[in-house]
Amino acid sequence: CWRNMRGFCQRNGLLTLSVIAVVTGCTLGFMLRGTELSTQAKIYFSFPGELLMRMLKMLILPLITSSLMSGLSSMESKACCRMGVLTVTYYLWTTFIAVVVGIVLVLIIKPGTGTEMESNRLGGGPVMTSADALLDLIRNMVPSNLIEATFQQYKTDLIPILRVPTKTIQPNFVYVVPDDNDPKGRTVYLELTPPPDVIYKTSPGSSQQMNVLGIVIFSATMGLLLGRMGERGAPLVNVCQCINECVMKIINAAVWYFPFGIIFLVAGKILDMQDPSTLGKKLGWYGITVLTGLFVHGLVLLPLFYFLLTRKNPFSYIRGLLQAMVIALATSSSSATLPITMKCLLENCHVDRQIARFVLPVGATINMDGTALYEAVAAIFIAQVNDYELDLGQLVTISITATAASIGAAGIPQAGLVTMVIVLTSVGLPPDDITLIVAIDWILDRFRTMINVLGDALAAGIIAHLCRKDFPLSETDIPSRIVGG
Ligand code: ASP
Repeated sequence: CWRNMRGFCQRNGLLTLSVIAVVTGCTLGFMLRGTELSTQAKIYFSFPGELLMRMLKMLILPLITSSLMSGLSSMESKACCRMGVLTVTYYLWTTFIAVVVGIVLVLIIKPGTGTEMESNRLGGGPVMTSADALLDLIRNMVPSNLIEATFQQYKTDLIPILRVPTKTIQPNFVYVVPDDNDPKGRTVYLELTPPPDVIYKTSPGSSQQMNVLGIVIFSATMGLLLGRMGERGAPLVNVCQCINECVMKIINAAVWYFPFGIIFLVAGKILDMQDPSTLGKKLGWYGITVLTGLFVHGLVLLPLFYFLLTRKNPFSYIRGLLQAMVIALATSSSSATLPITMKCLLENCHVDRQIARFVLPVGATINMDGTALYEAVAAIFIAQVNDYELDLGQLVTISITATAASIGAAGIPQAGLVTMVIVLTSVGLPPDDITLIVAIDWILDRFRTMINVLGDALAAGIIAHLCRKDFPLSETDIPSRIVGG
């Protein structure tokens, strides 16, 4: 057994280093928690981790645009249409199943019943309604300015925000203090003295959030059209192929930095963590419910679907994805993990390039099984804390809105926390009660991101199998059909 393990570690050096980095980061973080580090020191300490995140984010835009444009341009329209319909149907179906798993578990475990926790109504304040969220989703599909979509600025009038007590403030979020003289408020940092009682929180990182959905829709449309242009579109397709190849080469080089970055990313997060002893029993049970649901969905149901649809061993496929899952755990962002997921799919799982180039970017944008499951559990947990009986109709509403909210959530850290307002308001629960679960959200986010990434990657394997007749030859790096390849 020991020899087997040693052999596995030798064959998977990078994965082994990444796992060691996560463990080292946790240990270092807990050791340093005892010391009084100044905010400045924490910033320096987290710098290697910040660099890792920046590297990954840098690759998202060229990877998505070049993958979709070159991938779709070389497909027959019928094959493309079939793959698109299968992908979206599969994504919706698995997300809905994830929500059902979450609902069943939270109704059985009942983590929110009892008296230890109080509802946290702050009253008033702007909140996101379901209609606002739907409009926001559609708005994002049609970016008014493509350049702006790559660094979309936070707008207080477009992104409704949550009111949170200052005691729950966390780093990496954008906080806004309401200011009567300035209708857009102003962004504040953590050392605000004296801190106000209540501040407003926007979607995390949304000050520089990329509109990935808009970019995916635009690139997919361009790819489809380029494919129909024949020889005239060939030069642009060639450019996209080259960019794609270069990005994959950058990823191959950058991965050797990742284990080092992961240590500081994880340790920095643990330094900022709230003291676990102050978290109540109910919150503990809530966390256990979410983690059990993620486990059942990610390691039982999704592999079962994979096996039933492909008749192949899902666990040897998942073994090839471990590197991507460690990065998802360390970064809490399925968009940032996308480059590594792509690398794992192509190099370890040998999924057809054309399929991976379509299924993965779309999945990283709209398919979030882990997020959907967590949104449903959290909403019912909050109802239980409020002693609020949900009838069957409301449970159905929660399942639909949780599916929609997960589609609308961006693949960035804790995006699901913000879109959960949609689920809460749809059944009349107080949106301010999101603050009840904020304390452990950062850790649950890491695990649900892993399941989001796993869901996308398993989907690519399934779609590749179902569409194998449309793509009989695995694509090589030779320029595609329309350039005579
Ligand atoms: N962090 C998750 C992701 O990037 C989204 C969320 O559930 O907050 O996939």
